[in-house]
Amino acid sequence: MTAKVGPWSETIPKDYARLMREFGIEEFGDLAEELPDPNHLMRRRIIFGHRDFQRVLGAMRSGEKFAVMTGLMPSGRMHLGHKLVVDQLVWYQRHGAEIFLCVADIEAHATRGLTLQDAERLAIEEYLVNFQALGLDLERCNLYFQSRSDAVRNLAYTLGRKVNLSELRAIYGFSGETSASHIFYPLIDVADILHPQLEEFGGPRPTVVPVGIDQDPHLRLARDVASRFKREFGFIPPSSTYHRLLRGLTGGKMSSSNPETAIFLTDPPEAVERKIRNAFTGGRPTAKEQRERGGDPDKCVVYELHVYHLTPDDRELLKLREACESGEIICGECKAKTVERLKVFLAEHKKRRKNAEAGVKKLIK
Ligand code: SF4
Repeated sequence: MTAKVGPWSETIPKDYARLMREFGIEEFGDLAEELPDPNHLMRRRIIFGHRDFQRVLGAMRSGEKFAVMTGLMPSGRMHLGHKLVVDQLVWYQRHGAEIFLCVADIEAHATRGLTLQDAERLAIEEYLVNFQALGLDLERCNLYFQSRSDAVRNLAYTLGRKVNLSELRAIYGFSGETSASHIFYPLIDVADILHPQLEEFGGPRPTVVPVGIDQDPHLRLARDVASRFKREFGFIPPSSTYHRLLRGLTGGKMSSSNPETAIFLTDPPEAVERKIRNAFTGGRPTAKEQRERGGDPDKCVVYELHVYHLTPDDRELLKLREACESGEIICGECKAKTVERLKVFLAEHKKRRKNAEAGVKKLIK
């Protein structure tokens, strides 16, 4: 495990470290230095783990084709926590990846009870317009809706030949009460991950799936299934990277269903002010004490917003860290600056959303 050397914590949190050991995930660590122009998420070890990423790195170095597969499930509003994956996609697209972007409308239908029409509307307004506004060129992506992809559905049935119910139960904990559509869903998910390697989509090639560690069961199943169908389709087991999730503003989990925990990409300025004012920090009980003893940025979710999103420049982040730790800046001042930065970002994002809207709608029709 790496010691803390920069303005961000490089120590992998205990619960992530345990899962890495349990499931054999490797540290992303020094791989970041081997990448061309690593972004702040890689440099700051927000992307902390991987499986077989060397395969993708090799393809990048030799100029061979490689793909990135990701999905979005339309449910609730898009917030800064979701931006993490989009930033990775933008980086990969810039470095020559073919991006496969799946709108998981069947998943939203099967697990959240949304109609496919509602899922489509939500996907466009809340997610795809934001993705484009954040810099992903959707026209250059292989964008598809699960419900409309015959290739994915057919592949899911084919892959199901070599997966049985006991195995799915062991991975997902399905009970006798679980609906049949929910039970079938993992095969759709595995088919999403593997279909870029079908001949009609470009054939077998290194593919990376950037995920939070909670998605690892899908990856393990996809890698096992890829090996079972190697002879038939030539599948290369997909690689994956694992990122830390941004904590919620109140210190717990960030969730669309609890609006005070997240900054949404369409939040008005008043909401931003209120949420940051109430955010959990690493400050001291009194301003005097904080001036004397400094704050603790590693505990602070406001600082985490800077690490993940608001301050991509490492030197600037280091200055903020030092100012916090020395007591030169205290939470009230720091929060006011953070609100200003967020307001500027969201105002610019609003304009970019406006510009993106017509193009995204045209792309879907
Ligand atoms: S000064 Fe800023 S970074 Fe430090 S604990 Fe307070 S809000 Fe967090």
